[in-house]
Amino acid sequence: MAPEQTILSKLKKTGSKITKTRTLLVKIFQPDRLPLTELEIRDRLSKAGTKVNKTTVYRELAHLKKNKFISEIEFGDGKKRYELDSGKHHHHLVCTACNKIDEIYADNDIGLIEKQIVQQKRFKIQSHSLEFFGVCESCAKNN
Ligand SMILES: [Zn+2]
Ligand SMILES: [Zn+2]
Repeated sequence: MAPEQTILSKLKKTGSKITKTRTLLVKIFQPDRLPLTELEIRDRLSKAGTKVNKTTVYRELAHLKKNKFISEIEFGDGKKRYELDSGKHHHHLVCTACNKIDEIYADNDIGLIEKQIVQQKRFKIQSHSLEFFGVCESCAKNN
């Protein structure tokens, strides 16, 4: 089954209506796709032939987020980005030259930092968000 079919059938099980917009949105969030801003999402929807207003897109995104199909990320530029929720915790590598976004799955040392925070600050951590900014391999080569 195509990834979007899997998501759509799971969505159905949560009692969600499978509308045209919802189907297109799920297609836009392919597993290999990059985190997208609301504007980029709306742009892709309109390229796919569906003009949807901001309010509808936000409502749809909120619905997908609530059902844990997508997650929200912030890269500190004031824009929220959305990506398919892989269910696996990861961090992003953002290239400041070409804006390419990569993912990294490594959290061992961050676990140690969390332990320190709990011990030293008695702070109960619920989650963390950590993104890396720099220059990707191909941009570094071309410089
Ligand atoms: Zn780059
Ligand atoms: Zn982490």
